Amino acid sequence: MENKKNVGSVDEEPGGSIEESGSDNAVLVITSCQNWHTAYKNSLRSVEDLSRYLSLSEEDKTNLRQVAKTYHMRITPHYFSLIKDYADTKDPIRMQCVPSPEEIRQEEHERIDPLSEEKTSPVPCLVHRYPDRVLLLVTGKCFMYCRHCTRKRLWHTKLAEPTLKDIDLALTYVQDNPQIREVIISGGDPLTLPTERLDYILSSVVRRTNVEVVRIGTRSPVVMPERIDDNLCKVLEKYHNLWVNVQFNHPREVNPDSIAACGKLQRCGIPISNQSVLLRGVNDDPQVMIELCRKLQAIRVRPYYMYQCDPVVGAWHFRTSVWRGIEILEKMRGHTGGLCIPTYVVDGIDGKGKIPISPNYLVSMSPDGVTLRNYKNETFFYYSPKG
Ligand SMILES: *Cc1c(COP(=O)(O)O)cnc(C)c1O
Ligand code: SF4
Repeated sequence: MENKKNVGSVDEEPGGSIEESGSDNAVLVITSCQNWHTAYKNSLRSVEDLSRYLSLSEEDKTNLRQVAKTYHMRITPHYFSLIKDYADTKDPIRMQCVPSPEEIRQEEHERIDPLSEEKTSPVPCLVHRYPDRVLLLVTGKCFMYCRHCTRKRLWHTKLAEPTLKDIDLALTYVQDNPQIREVIISGGDPLTLPTERLDYILSSVVRRTNVEVVRIGTRSPVVMPERIDDNLCKVLEKYHNLWVNVQFNHPREVNPDSIAACGKLQRCGIPISNQSVLLRGVNDDPQVMIELCRKLQAIRVRPYYMYQCDPVVGAWHFRTSVWRGIEILEKMRGHTGGLCIPTYVVDGIDGKGKIPISPNYLVSMSPDGVTLRNYKNETFFYYSPKG
């Protein structure tokens, strides 16, 4: 593919070295590893890289350099190749990966850490907000920096690279709190870590006997499908209580490469769920969201959440009204299968947690029953037994 030629300056490997194998098929293993390492190195990282593909005026370049001073940029060759028309600044793929001058605008009500994750972090790299589950933030790195990311603050902080000692301490906390039954490995993108390190972390997590379920949050199948290679699968298939959550936001992201990546994970026995972010101009349209969710259902990736875009500084141009989200759900429920309908959630500011929001189907209540509304907007009384 034309975009896959070397466009960026060579950067360090994400978190480590190419894996070695003592076996006869070492060459094969290294080749398959180089695929994602090479794709990582060939990612677009600067305004100069971008200007080879996009026609940017001097003013555009100055503006983008300004944004790049505040926020990282990195775009994988695969994701960049999904842009249909490089001249179209409103392309939904382009909008998610190419920085915009709007990012340095700050609006009222916006925050650097909208979810107050720092406050609900009892030990470094761990967020404990709900009784029975925690987030373990294992890295701040991502293969691609999504322009709408809620954790933009982490891109620069020390927290970005927790040590194994930090992770061990966080897991001691998990062990000391037996009500915790689920650990969600997140970041950044945990799959940017070398496979052995990920294996080490997973094995440390599952060793805590109170941990019944492990979840990995990653956007790799969408932005860096090369990452889902045989080595990774060999490691992941060892863990039988593992779930993966991905982030597909637009139907065009569901393509042969990302489908193959999901398929490999599924063949490891891993169920995949999707968390979309509702983004203005990308997917804030019922038809686009329905197409996305149907495509996901067809590849057995379950639409799980549709997030309201958090009021994070630097993402105001992506935010839609909550009404828009409700309207999209209204057009989905009943009109398409329940298995391709996500729960629409607002993540409450200050760590209030995820709040599900839905069109209202319960019109009124009385001692005898309820008045309900169906997807065709017909209302009727439903007798409800007492007690
Ligand atoms: C989103 C989130 C979870 C997971 O919530 P689910 O509703 O189980 O997906 C857990 N902890 C924190 C801090 C979160 O933000
Ligand atoms: S992959 Fe997730 S954590 Fe990384 S930049 Fe995108 S939204 Fe943020």
